Amino acid sequence: MIRLYLDFDGTITLRDVGDELFMEFGDFHVHSAALMSGETDVRSYYKGVVQSLRKECTPEALKSFVEHQEVDSGLLDLLEFCKKRDIEVLIVSDGFDSYINPILSKHVLSNSEIGIGDLKVMSNTLEYRGLHWVPAFPGATESCSCFCASCKRNAVIGTSTESDVTIYVGDGMSDECAIQYCDVVFAKHSLAAYCNSHRIPHHPFKNLSDVQRILASKLATGELRHRRQAAVARAIALRSE
Ligand SMILES: [Mg+2]
Ligand SMILES: [Zn+2]
Repeated sequence: MIRLYLDFDGTITLRDVGDELFMEFGDFHVHSAALMSGETDVRSYYKGVVQSLRKECTPEALKSFVEHQEVDSGLLDLLEFCKKRDIEVLIVSDGFDSYINPILSKHVLSNSEIGIGDLKVMSNTLEYRGLHWVPAFPGATESCSCFCASCKRNAVIGTSTESDVTIYVGDGMSDECAIQYCDVVFAKHSLAAYCNSHRIPHHPFKNLSDVQRILASKLATGELRHRRQAAVARAIALRSE
């Protein structure tokens, strides 16, 4: 089976919605500086920045904030392409369900063949409880040192078998760990720079239409296959879990 792992912020959406949300309603810069300097880990960062959300950030305010977020124009075609070819898509995000789900509902579910069953998402959660937002990290792990609260590496190795060919599409730091375990990597922005400096074979892309076009040609020529380094990394990670 072919499996495609798709990052959300900056890959499905044009901007990093999480960052924008915390910039709009919280003390993003203070908390993000502490994260970037290594003072805090991602989970503590999220707890802090969520706590900094001002009381204007009600569920209604979040809803209207989300309304303005745009997605990559190639998203629907890519999802439909995968559905037709039995490529299993999993959205792996270190962001929060409270903005991911409404964005997917608006841009995917309401105008395509893609149903809710085709849209599997692994992410952190953010719940509004008694005037406060409460984050939770169901995908957190102690056994991985990735730059994620929701471990994308575990999403990959936990949902794929040895015979599966795994494809990853992403743009940023939260994807750096997971791509080491994937056979085919599509990277843009800082993730592409990371791949270059770490000699990870990858396809640079600008938008999801590029991804679809390259995938189609790889499928046609039988080039979607295992990458030895990824298979070795997967086997080692599985043994140590
Ligand atoms: Mg991203
Ligand atoms: Zn991890």
